[in-house]
Amino acid sequence: MNCLWCHEEVLLEVNWTTITLPAKAKRICDKCENSLKELSGNRCQRCSREADTEICDDCIWWGNYHHGEDVIDYNYSVFPYNAHMQDIIAKWKYRGDYQLGHLFENQFINHFYKKFNWIKEVIAVPIPLSSERLQERCFNQAEMLCSFLPIQSMDMLTRVHGEKQSKKTRKERISSENPFYLVQKLNKPVILVDDIYTTGTTLRHAARLLKTAGCPNVYTYTLVRG
Ligand SMILES: [Zn+2]
Ligand SMILES: [Zn+2]
Repeated sequence: MNCLWCHEEVLLEVNWTTITLPAKAKRICDKCENSLKELSGNRCQRCSREADTEICDDCIWWGNYHHGEDVIDYNYSVFPYNAHMQDIIAKWKYRGDYQLGHLFENQFINHFYKKFNWIKEVIAVPIPLSSERLQERCFNQAEMLCSFLPIQSMDMLTRVHGEKQSKKTRKERISSENPFYLVQKLNKPVILVDDIYTTGTTLRHAARLLKTAGCPNVYTYTLVRG
């Protein structure tokens, strides 16, 4: 098998686990795996942004915006949005290289166990793409991330097509209308899954819908902290 990123052959190390257990094919070489640096150091406990305070200014702002209680319990992200990660995400998401998503699989599962495994009866919900965007890209990266997790996932949301969020200012994004619709009600805790947390506005639009419909808690799990 060749590495999904650099295409060098991945050499399987033979040790006692690979002899006794069927080896899970490794999709990434050691060199590329080591270059996928995870977020480290102090971070905001609510949004995973690098911060020296427990709760960053943005999250304090969100709390006030939602009258003291943010609609998201917390966001957790695995990787920083550095140049290397931007390259991989661009190829995976915008140029349709579906398989590249497997580069993140192991780490995405491992951090799930550390940060979310304690939540009982929790359902994973992918942030949907609009049908136009889905046609362009052929797959939804958030659904792929959900499929890695050891919990049930449900497509609870649909999304209307709109302007590109990235072209709007922060203020415009926050005040823009909610692009999501709820497909069905669910009174269980939810982990919203997406590839990136940037301002957190999109995720909060989705979280607010779920909460008004009866979800007791909404967490967000994102691959990258922008
Ligand atoms: Zn490689
Ligand atoms: Zn924060």
